[in-house]
Amino acid sequence: MPDELQYKLFVSIIYVFMFLFGATVGSFLNVCIYRLPKEESLIKSNSHCMKCGTPILRRDLIPIVSWCMLRGKCRACGEPISPRYTVVELLNAIGWVLISLHFDIISSFSMMIHTVLCCLVFSALLVVFFMDWDTQLISTPVVIFIGALAIPDILLGPSFMGIEFRFMIIGLFTTSLPLLLIFLISKGRAMGLGDVYLMAAAGLFLGWQRGLVALFVGIIAGAVAGLIHKARGGDSAFAFGPWLSIGILAAMIWGWDICNLYMSFTGLGELIYGEGYIANLPTDFYQEPHFSTEAA
Ligand SMILES: [Zn+2]
Repeated sequence: MPDELQYKLFVSIIYVFMFLFGATVGSFLNVCIYRLPKEESLIKSNSHCMKCGTPILRRDLIPIVSWCMLRGKCRACGEPISPRYTVVELLNAIGWVLISLHFDIISSFSMMIHTVLCCLVFSALLVVFFMDWDTQLISTPVVIFIGALAIPDILLGPSFMGIEFRFMIIGLFTTSLPLLLIFLISKGRAMGLGDVYLMAAAGLFLGWQRGLVALFVGIIAGAVAGLIHKARGGDSAFAFGPWLSIGILAAMIWGWDICNLYMSFTGLGELIYGEGYIANLPTDFYQEPHFSTEAA
């Protein structure tokens, strides 16, 4: 087989693997979304039908495939099974593939580590999104999990991603303190402590620059969603976590690009780095140090 073909085959296998493994992990995320709020064990006791309680057969637990084969109905009682389970599995599978493509998982060992860590953060954000949406609760173990991923990222991730220890420590505070302030002023009505902890963990993982991007995107998305929620006459139970999760995701993927765009549009880049500041836009971004200054 020619080298090029062999290489293409190798690359395809990696992405197929990311999809299949992503779907399997997505299945576990469903367990987290439904059991964490009830403080049930994540590993014990098998899944069962919500209506008739019949345990679900092992062959009916294949992610995505089983739900389609059963046409979304319980094998025992015929009660419709929520498409939510399959949606979460699909989202996680597709998310993992897109993140691997975006960061180019096979480009180097450090990039592979960074990509895998970002995939894990994405999965944790899916849990935060759906669990907070359903229950207005953000699970502390999930938040700690996100924060803990910062450690392997700083030790093994690519240094040119702007991942520096001091940035992460500053990030822990810059992203969470504004929310803590809102929490204290609104006496917990506008913002829960869970949101504060979530952003602290995100700030640690992203560093303060991308952490601020996450905060701004999250707050803008949450404010728009909150206004729509209010206009529709929704009750006061409004979850902010899902929108913060979207902000964190956007910052994790395009954080530096958004920083650079902001720096060029506002002229802040020239002010700080001198005339001739050129924003590194997506195509060459990951090969160059961020905020490069090319003197004219
Ligand atoms: Zn049933």
